Amino acid sequence: MISVAEALDRAFALAPAMPTEKVPLRSGHGRVLAEPVTARQDQPPFPASAMDGYAVRGAQVRPGAKFRVIGEAAAGRRFAGTMGPGETVRIFTGAVVPDGADRVVIQEDVLHEGDEITIGANPDPASHVRSAGTDFATGDRVEAPRRLSAGDLSLLAAMNLPDLPLARRPVVALVATGDELVLPGEEPGPDQIIASNNFGLAPIAEAEGAEVRVLPIARDNAASIRLAFELAEGADLIVTSGGASVGDHDLIGPVAAELGMEQSFYKVAMRPGKPLMAGRLGSAMLLGLPGNPVSAIVCGHVFLRPILRAMQGLPATALPRTAARLSRPVAANGPREHYMRAVVHDDGTIAPAERQDSSLLSVLTRSNALMIRPPQDPPRAAGEQVQFISI
Ligand code: AMP
Ligand code: MG
Repeated sequence: MISVAEALDRAFALAPAMPTEKVPLRSGHGRVLAEPVTARQDQPPFPASAMDGYAVRGAQVRPGAKFRVIGEAAAGRRFAGTMGPGETVRIFTGAVVPDGADRVVIQEDVLHEGDEITIGANPDPASHVRSAGTDFATGDRVEAPRRLSAGDLSLLAAMNLPDLPLARRPVVALVATGDELVLPGEEPGPDQIIASNNFGLAPIAEAEGAEVRVLPIARDNAASIRLAFELAEGADLIVTSGGASVGDHDLIGPVAAELGMEQSFYKVAMRPGKPLMAGRLGSAMLLGLPGNPVSAIVCGHVFLRPILRAMQGLPATALPRTAARLSRPVAANGPREHYMRAVVHDDGTIAPAERQDSSLLSVLTRSNALMIRPPQDPPRAAGEQVQFISI
């Protein structure tokens, strides 16, 4: 058995890197910028008014000063002339500040009568002019790799970049295995259960930017599993759940080996999730998750998420850990790293669930964190600091 950290490192080594593709801006959300990009223009491209008011020469502004209104500047429609001393231009937010002006007096600070304005007693001292390039300048870079947020996409749009160089979405094929499984909506026979794992794994993978293909359930025989691997052709990552232990009906390993898989590891010192397998099958990576529903989802967080990040060029590291204080004591941990279902409260304390059985989805769904106990961690008292990953 190897440690979680070592298993992750080996998984990163197996994970195929996604090529770069050009993608329209509109489809970039949540995807990973693969190469740095640079702004094609200044923002704002011209000195712009930040308020509705009157464009003036700042040096001439004092309480009671009068200016003659000689024209108007609105967003998209500049004042074409030049402003002389004692003159002003009515201006609106987003308009080009006219030549000769360096300040906008807000309309609330002005009395406007006929074609003349008078500055009020206490004019706001700010210039209310955004100079050209204050937000960004032509050539400013957005560095890669970077997962694109909503704010990032606004910025890249403003930089006038209609297409972006992004890492291709990893194609993930999900394969549930087991003679006992039927799909939700079917009537389970007396010995059957509902196949639930892929309904949790698919959104985990999609949230990381993957394109998911859910394959038909594979049965516990070599032919059916072989067929599943054939159907997975073209995927970058094949994720199976179930059938990964060493029981007579656990055929993922043997069938993958027969198809030429170079197995990298097969058991990981973690709870839940010991029977975890990874290898390379042709150009794809194979990740064999345990079948137990909670184990599958925990491994989805601990392994699948970082693997998908690394495939898209993001740093190959474990999910970030956060510290919290225990709300109750916990017993000593055994030899495997334990990912305990837990609730992190608003006050920053963490409460691991009483029942940690790896089949209890109802406990998982009440949890918002996996609290990590290192191997052989001694008993911990309430108030002691532990680490968790958010789920
Ligand atoms: P296995 O790893 O195949 O021995 O499966 C371990 C346990 O997980 C068994 O109780 C299976 O019935 C259950 N199981 C396997 N695959 C799934 C699945 N896709 N959805 C729900 N339970 C599953
Ligand atoms: Mg099974």
